[in-house]
Amino acid sequence: MNDLLPILLILFALWWFWRKGRETPWHKSQDRQPPEIIPCTRCGTYIPRSEATMVSGRAYCCREHSARDTR
Ligand SMILES: [Zn+2]
Repeated sequence: MNDLLPILLILFALWWFWRKGRETPWHKSQDRQPPEIIPCTRCGTYIPRSEATMVSGRAYCCREHSARDTR
């Protein structure tokens, strides 16, 4: 039974950090809406619009894909 207490403490700490990490950013951020997720035109990987490479109205996950798909 002596081994049980540290495990419970670790689990509690993990749960606490997980809760805190999950809740804090949304309350602090000024806009509560989550980032818009869009698919890469080439490979279909979903990425936030702010991180997407936009080429002529189409979104790509990286420069390599935007370059390959340009005609
Ligand atoms: Zn891609």
